[in-house]
Amino acid sequence: MAERVAGPEIERLIQLLARLPGLGPRSARRAALHLIRKREDLLGPLADAMQVARERIVICEPCGNVDTSNPCTICRDQRRDPSVLVVVETVADLWALERAGAIRARYHVLGGTLSPLDGVGPNDINVSTLVERVISQNITEVILAVNATVDGQTTAHYITDILSPHNIKVTRLAHGVPVGGELDYLDEGTLSAAIRQRTPF
Ligand code: ZN
Repeated sequence: MAERVAGPEIERLIQLLARLPGLGPRSARRAALHLIRKREDLLGPLADAMQVARERIVICEPCGNVDTSNPCTICRDQRRDPSVLVVVETVADLWALERAGAIRARYHVLGGTLSPLDGVGPNDINVSTLVERVISQNITEVILAVNATVDGQTTAHYITDILSPHNIKVTRLAHGVPVGGELDYLDEGTLSAAIRQRTPF
């Protein structure tokens, strides 16, 4: 086992940092050293921000987003189209779509996907609350912004089925050539989906 280079307090900081996604033990050490060096500018404000986050972060009841208010900032935003719901798997997906700024609607975070092989069924994700929202909030379109994976598509089919009696428009994201993508580098599945879902020019 490697020698310890610092006291238990700093070792603990390194161990905790190493649990962050994308950071291994080596980069956690580098990050810890950086924080220690920038004690006034970074370590202090970061510790304060984490303390505030710990006290105030809540899960939005209507949509499942993470925020410091419930309902969240997005759910309270009056400028958004109240008749459209964008269904996503995770909060990370919601934030990605918001970064893109492609749509001014509200969201519904499933908190996962159906995965029969792993024993994840409809009761393990937020599907029943989605149906309740569609009925009570007069939703006219549900956009299924789930991942293009087997589990994502299984989930999309399931949601389409359970929403079919409610007479609303259910759409999904297009599959195809990424912006700036070169055809020669794409896999066959993506290319054939792009041909099938071609649009008028
Ligand atoms: Zn919300």
